[in-house]
This record gives sequence, structure tokens and C-alpha cells, in this order.
Amino acid sequence: MINRLTIIGVGLIGGSLARALKSGDAVKEVVGTSRDARHLQRALDLGVIDRIEMDLGTAVSGADMIVVAVPVGAMEDVFAEIAPYLSADAVLTDVGSTKTSVVEAARVAFGELPAGFVPGHPIAGTEKSGVEASFAELFKQRRVILTPTEASSAGAVSKVRAMWEKTGAIVTETSVTHHDEVLAATSHLPHLLAFALVDTLATMDDKQEIFEYAAGGFRDFTRIASSDPLMWHDICVHNEPALLKILNRFEADLDRLREAIAKNDSDYLLQVFSRAKVARDQFCEGE
Ligand code: NAP
Repeated sequence: MINRLTIIGVGLIGGSLARALKSGDAVKEVVGTSRDARHLQRALDLGVIDRIEMDLGTAVSGADMIVVAVPVGAMEDVFAEIAPYLSADAVLTDVGSTKTSVVEAARVAFGELPAGFVPGHPIAGTEKSGVEASFAELFKQRRVILTPTEASSAGAVSKVRAMWEKTGAIVTETSVTHHDEVLAATSHLPHLLAFALVDTLATMDDKQEIFEYAAGGFRDFTRIASSDPLMWHDICVHNEPALLKILNRFEADLDRLREAIAKNDSDYLLQVFSRAKVARDQFCEGE
């Protein structure tokens, strides 16, 4: 049982975590804080948080669990603002989609990494943002990756793990570098491609007609281009090395496909498409 949980950034992820823990009776009080009091009032009205605290220092004082759920580009400022108020026994975690950058932000803001700090990332989300989009079941049967630092205490890791398990999530641990490489390939690259494709089509002269004829395939492929631009800007900027690595590899494979089309190499096309279908059918089995 968490006595006082402070959520910094009560949006889709922070709000869903609060809802999940409340519905599982795993928390006594949820304090919400962010930049805009109207967003917090909405969270209070929806019953997602129990109390609004606009001052970050006051919000974290006395909390036994603090979750930072703001865009990754805002992490360093938030860490710096709470640093003087963090008690020695407080457990601090985040939900940021990039981990090397968040750990670096913590190092800069705190001077040295606190023993109570356990970076984390729930692999769950939707293309919607804000507390209105939050729901208690978001993390059920979804993975949460923890990337403990060299300073994270075993006690803090087990408290963060227990919190996520209460939401129905499956918790695993890995290194920050491995996390960033895997997520660059499975999440950051697909979002970049979806944004890029929609933008290419949207800047064409006959875009009206193109979008009128857009059917299921286009909608499936581009749903995630409705995600928050600022959040994805931050993620791409803060995971540059891993994203560039997978982007280079993908570019080479795309070049090879372009060449196959230009040379009418139907064997190569069929080979790639067949291999991809088998792979996707296997990993999405049961969906
Ligand atoms: P969101 O719905 O837009 O919520 C972000 C929250 O952060 C808002 O409540 C916003 O409230 C607050 N905020 C923004 N800048 C802030 C600042 N400088 N100081 C204090 N509060 C600030 O976004 P989200 O989807 O929950 O994403 C939050 C985090 O989760 C991000 O780091 C993202 O990488 C990660 N994540 C997202 C997904 C996903 O699919 N959406 C999945 C896994 C992890 P105010 O406007 O009132 O400040």
C-alpha cells in the first residue's frame, strides 16, 4: 500500500496509473501536480487524483512514491525543481519513453543519482493525450520495463515493481542502452514513419483526393500519427543514437526495395513480403 503517491504530469500515463492503483486499493492518497491548474481540476473532478498541489516542492514533500509522467524533454527541469525537497526515503520513478536521456537528466539535476530513483517505462499507450484519455486498464497484461541505475537500491526497485504489478502489468528489467535500442526499433521508428508518410501525402497537390480514397490500410498504418507531436518530438530528439542506427538500417532495406521495383525484381519483392507476413503473423498470434 502506497500512503501518498505524487504524480507529476497527470495526463494519459500518469492519470491511468493513478486510476489503476486507486481501483486496486493500492494507494491511500494521490496528489497531482503539473503546470496548468485547469488540467488538475479536471483530474480532480474525474476522481483520478485526491488533491491538487501546484507547488512542486510541496507536492513531493511527504510523498512515499513520486512518479514523473511529463514529456521526456521536461524531465530535467522537473528533477531540478524537486531535488531540494526529496526526502532520503522517497522512491522516485518516471514513465519516460527514452531512458538514457532521463538518467542523464537525473544525473545533472541531482548531482549524483539518488538511491530511491528507479527509471521505468510502461509499454502501453494510445494516440490520445491528457487525463480525459486515461483509463485504469491501460497497463493490464502490458509490459513495464525498469532500468535501475547503478545507484538504485534494491528496496526502491522492489517498491516500483510492486506498484506496477498492482496495475496488472508484467514487469521486466534491462539496461538503459538496451531499452533505448529496442524501443527505437519497435516504437520510435514506426511513429517517425507514420508522421513522415502522412506529412508527405498532406503536402501533395492532390491531397484532398488522396485522403478521400484512404481506406483501412492507410488508417491502420497512420493511426499513431495522431499522437502528440511535442511528445514524439521529445522522444526522437532524446533517443538520437539508437534512432539513427535503426533508421540507417531501415533506409538501406528501403533502398533495396526501391531498386527491386525499378528493376522489376518480383522475386525479391515477394520474398520480402512473404518473410514479413510470416514474422508479423507469428508475433501477433492470438490478436
Ligand atoms: P500527456 O497525456 O500529454 O501528459 C503529460 C502531462 O505532463 C500533462 O499532464 C501535462 O500537464 C504535464 N506536463 C507537461 N510538461 C510539464 C512540465 N514541464 N512540468 C510539469 N508537468 C508537465 O502525455 P503522456 O502520454 O501521459 O506521456 C507522459 C510521459 O509518458 C512521456 O514522457 C512519454 O514519453 C511517456 N509515455 C507515453 C506513452 C504514450 O503512448 N502516450 C507510453 C509510454 C510512456 P500540464 O499541461 O498541466 O503541465
